[in-house]
Amino acid sequence: MTSTAPLAEVLRQRLAERRERNLYRDLKTLAAAPGPQAEVDGVPLVTFSSNDYLGLATHPAVIAAQQAGAELGAGATASHLVNGHLEVHERLQDKIAGLTGRQAALVFSSGYMANVGTICALVGRGDNIISDKLNHASLIDGARLCRAESLRFAHSDLAALERQLQRAQRNGGNILVAVDGVYSMDGDCAPLREAAQLCREYGAWLMVDEAHGFGVMGSAQLPAAGSAAAAGLGQDEVPVLMGTLGKAAGNAGAFVAGSRELVDYLVQFARPYIYTTGMPPAIAAGNIAALDIMQDDPDHRRRLHDRIGQFRRRAVELGLPLMPSATAIQPVLLGEEEAVVRVAGRLQERGFLVGAIRPPTVPAGTARLRITLSAAHSENQIEDLLLVLTDALAEYGINGESPGGRS
Ligand SMILES: *Cc1c(COP(=O)(O)O)cnc(C)c1O
Repeated sequence: MTSTAPLAEVLRQRLAERRERNLYRDLKTLAAAPGPQAEVDGVPLVTFSSNDYLGLATHPAVIAAQQAGAELGAGATASHLVNGHLEVHERLQDKIAGLTGRQAALVFSSGYMANVGTICALVGRGDNIISDKLNHASLIDGARLCRAESLRFAHSDLAALERQLQRAQRNGGNILVAVDGVYSMDGDCAPLREAAQLCREYGAWLMVDEAHGFGVMGSAQLPAAGSAAAAGLGQDEVPVLMGTLGKAAGNAGAFVAGSRELVDYLVQFARPYIYTTGMPPAIAAGNIAALDIMQDDPDHRRRLHDRIGQFRRRAVELGLPLMPSATAIQPVLLGEEEAVVRVAGRLQERGFLVGAIRPPTVPAGTARLRITLSAAHSENQIEDLLLVLTDALAEYGINGESPGGRS
């Protein structure tokens, strides 16, 4: 006889255990995609939890373009390589290549698929993939699935990165180094200039995930290209540039930008690109409109940076524990899962929605509120959030001292 248990029993037991550990996640159902205002169960809330950093998800010009795009057909009707690749996808890819200063770009249906597909296409058995320990789950899953030797280094620790590059060199094979440009749960930026220099010394290929950099930062020439451009790095230094369209673009989908050969290669070898239905044409059309705004209207970015400055200034005045982030992601590290659940619950009662981020999304002992700012927030909304947060932390005896030691 085998020792199998009934499915229902296994599910019940595992869910109960997750609840006991304060790790159970509730789905919140919203009436519509939130601007700063949202509605959950009929109750109005101000959201500080979305990744719509520029407010483009609810921009009238984007919505109109997406509606018009639906005239091209509701769906692409097949994978890109069969008959699901439309002119509107080509236009979007050209737009992305222009915004990122790359020769070419390839659109994927999601960032998760772009990361898994690109890593698995570029390295395999006999090669090496080196990752920062705080990389996004989709990069980690790509590293697991690709069958290359997977090496990890402590967060943004360049000496540790170099040790792994030496190890990879001893292993032989190609070396891909994958990092987030802006860390999704911490908001800090990777030391890209130094990492690129190390990659050059060891002949490694650098892949940067710009999910949280694209659209909101860049260089004088490429103001929306992301954190690699902000660090002065181009296609030679960062040959594999990945970005998502579900964050600052406010939409859905993702891209990899780089050389013409890289894009040709991914079309041939990236399985999550090949074996899935093409992006719906309306999504591509909406994305083009959002990227037009990113390109032509610097006001959204300017407003976002004003709000980030306001948030950090006031938080310091109020003695709130901030993390070293200059980006739209402003986490408040509380450590314990229970504290995070309680404070997020109290904020929701007082009209604010913030992310209660717990393991396994972040390392054990580093549970946090993930507050995200948007160009669409008013100064008053930010001030009100900070006052309510200060009260909630005081109520639970959290005194504004940073809980020591991030892992
Ligand atoms: C959101 C995110 C992804 C995944 O993108 P989706 O389009 O949502 O699948 C990848 N990397 C990072 C760093 C992200 O934050």
